[in-house]
Amino acid sequence: MDYIEHLYNLRKNVVKKGNELQILLANFSGTEQQKDIEARTPLINDFFRVKINIKAFDDKERAKKNLEPLDFHNNEAVFGAMRDEFDMPYWAFSKLKNVPLKELKNTFIYQLKACNLYCPWCYVDDTNKNGKDGNNSRFFSITEIIDFFEEERKKQKIYNFRPSGGEPTIAIEQWLNVLQELEKRKLNREVYVQGDTNLSTGHFIDFLEQKGELENNLLEQIASYNNFGVLCSFKGNSTVSFWEATGANPELHQEQFYSLKKLVKAGIDCYPFVYSPEPSSLERFMEKGARIFGEGFYLKTWILPLKLYGPEKARFEAKGTNPELYQQRLDKNFRESEEIMQDLIWKKYGMNYKANPRTGIKLEVKEQAGKNGG
Ligand code: SF4
Repeated sequence: MDYIEHLYNLRKNVVKKGNELQILLANFSGTEQQKDIEARTPLINDFFRVKINIKAFDDKERAKKNLEPLDFHNNEAVFGAMRDEFDMPYWAFSKLKNVPLKELKNTFIYQLKACNLYCPWCYVDDTNKNGKDGNNSRFFSITEIIDFFEEERKKQKIYNFRPSGGEPTIAIEQWLNVLQELEKRKLNREVYVQGDTNLSTGHFIDFLEQKGELENNLLEQIASYNNFGVLCSFKGNSTVSFWEATGANPELHQEQFYSLKKLVKAGIDCYPFVYSPEPSSLERFMEKGARIFGEGFYLKTWILPLKLYGPEKARFEAKGTNPELYQQRLDKNFRESEEIMQDLIWKKYGMNYKANPRTGIKLEVKEQAGKNGG
């Protein structure tokens, strides 16, 4: 099955009832993921959850480690905490003028039940991203999803909303629908929407545009919202590391730069991460990124460590892979990659890697799309 056909099959999860978009969501109940989620936060009606993005911001999580609550007047400690975990709270903080940073530690999440990749370390049970209606999955409209979000906001402070997956861009119009619905409810100044993508769907979105399945200028309309940013996941940073990190056709590696270009060109605020970085090709990868997106690529692209925790175990056992050895390799590659990033940023800018927030850094498309996306 070719690339477009595969994705188009998964898009059976996206239907219209009248004019209303309906998307198939994964049910967490009874999954390996549920065990991990509920170690910290209860599920909400089986399909939704609140994730602690920054454990260092959370008093209960700190207490478990015998740490005092974080001093939010200490910028270095606060930014250091995000550097070691995620910096998404800062993306929201830079846009939501009246919400204190410490209130942005959590995010409301749902998961589209479809993905086109097969990352061995994926946090989602395989059955919950197979694109098939089953395992107690259910179609929801965006209005219904935001109703659940609003219900949860009555119980706790929550300002981040994350349509996740699976691969959320298989139903990319959900981003605009969410932003419009929040605006309609006058929540756009107090709720930040974080998109996610595995950067493998750029040409598929072209296909949907050409077919007339997406409204005109969909991406530009999304970009016009100030309360939106996208976590863009590069899986590995070379053809081989992409294949190892995704189990997908290695040629799809080129799609990652093409997909990022498409989002950046439309004006969407993109935050690239490299998961599972491969040290020997990292510098070349960063050079290539800077050729395409300008020098900002160096400062705006972060590498992230990966931790195996549950759903992958059965997958690894079936393949005869030892999870401990796999984790050791990930850790080693990450440590070496961090040193490479530190050297690169120090040589170029005379400062430490991840020393500053990356919210103000703009990516711009400098190169035209090549035949192979790079
Ligand atoms: S891109 Fe990879 S990690 Fe993300 S949902 Fe798909 S298989 Fe899982």
